[in-house]
Amino acid sequence: MDFTWTPEQSAFRDEVRSFIDREWVQPGHGAIGGGEEGGGAASVRYQRALAQHGWLTMAWPKEYGGRGVTYWEQLIFAEESAFASAPTGGQGADRVGPTLMIHGTDEQKREHLPKIAAGEVVWCQGFSEPGSGSDLASLQTRAARDGDDFVINGQKIWTSGADHAQWIHVLTRTDPEAPKHRGVTYFMLRMDTPGISLRPIVQMHDQAGFNETFFEDVRVPAKNMIGDENRGWYVAATALDFERSGINRMAEAVAPFRRLLAHATRPDSAGQGRRIVDTSMHRLALVDTHIEMEVARLLGYRVTWMQDRHLVPNMESSMSKMAGSELQQRNARRGINMLGLAGALRPGQPRAALGGEYCMLYLSTVSRTIAAGTSEIQRNIIATRGLGLPRG
Ligand SMILES: Cc1cc2nc3c(=O)[nH]c(=O)nc-3n(C[C@H](O)[C@H](O)[C@H](O)COP(=O)(O)OP(=O)(O)OC[C@H]3O[C@@H](n4cnc5c(N)ncnc54)[C@H](O)[C@@H]3O)c2cc1C
Repeated sequence: MDFTWTPEQSAFRDEVRSFIDREWVQPGHGAIGGGEEGGGAASVRYQRALAQHGWLTMAWPKEYGGRGVTYWEQLIFAEESAFASAPTGGQGADRVGPTLMIHGTDEQKREHLPKIAAGEVVWCQGFSEPGSGSDLASLQTRAARDGDDFVINGQKIWTSGADHAQWIHVLTRTDPEAPKHRGVTYFMLRMDTPGISLRPIVQMHDQAGFNETFFEDVRVPAKNMIGDENRGWYVAATALDFERSGINRMAEAVAPFRRLLAHATRPDSAGQGRRIVDTSMHRLALVDTHIEMEVARLLGYRVTWMQDRHLVPNMESSMSKMAGSELQQRNARRGINMLGLAGALRPGQPRAALGGEYCMLYLSTVSRTIAAGTSEIQRNIIATRGLGLPRG
């Protein structure tokens, strides 16, 4: 197998690297800007800089404000961004825009795509509810028609970035009598619409940005519907496919792993000349992470290879998502074991190993195998669609 990049691709990688070095200021350890949680105000600022450079939506067709680059250039950009824990396009560029290109009306495309490409609007996703996560189609948030509007009542949860988003894309139930997949309608609405309120949820690594979102008699015009009434489930499946593909999960583990490796081979700080890696257990753990990283990388490249040939990755996206997110957790777990008590200290605490990075990674990566569909759900997809096994 020849995985050599062309000279143009290598030059592009260098350009991306120096752009990130210049423009991205990391908000702090554990704030993985490219991950599911987004990076707040720093991300928004950086995404505007990306937009000015034409990189926010580089893979979009030129007619929609993109640069029409290949999937491979997009992958290089995503890899380098994740290596530096820098955000990429956000939900507007990665999910909403591509979904509108397939299912949106001409008016919706004209209104939203240029603003997304310019980095002017931050989007959040209102899919999950307290009783509907993995079984998303059981969602209960109700939208009832009233003339040219729908009126929404209900609650969403785990709405990442809702506290700084201007728009939300949201799934609602419009026909409670229909089978659960058939009574769902997909809307876009402004977050400052009267009747929407938020309650923040602080996570165990002290980051906010996660919210409960409440809808009380919220009016949304019918023209803000994506796809047809009661057919929103099938449109949302497109958005979820876009959410799951991508090399970023694997690539986010690379830089912390390299720092752990460098730390492990340095003599210890007590000046004893002893290296951190003084047991075969630690050596083997580092080797395992290295192998898993290579496997996850190749699974990610396979998804890109398929997209490049206009094939639809399905089981392949699930394998890549699972391999990348489980890799992040295992790297964090092995790292914190290896660093001992000092590894469990947070940034800013005296004697924190590696500046507290692995403590924050350990806490923040717990959510990686939950967000965008849990590992169990990915396994179910691989079992049924990949291996032809019956549903469990
Ligand atoms: C960091 C993060 C960001 C998120 N951002 C958003 C967001 O912006 N917008 C949004 O709408 N949602 C968001 N979510 C929610 C996410 O999509 C859900 O948490 C996820 O789909 C799981 O749903 P749940 O939490 O309700 O767990 P549940 O579905 O209740 O699952 C609980 C456990 O049961 C297992 N399980 C459930 N069903 C099956 C099955 N059929 N077979 C085997 N095991 C099963 C699950 O794997 C899990 O271990 C986010 C979540 C996280 C962690």
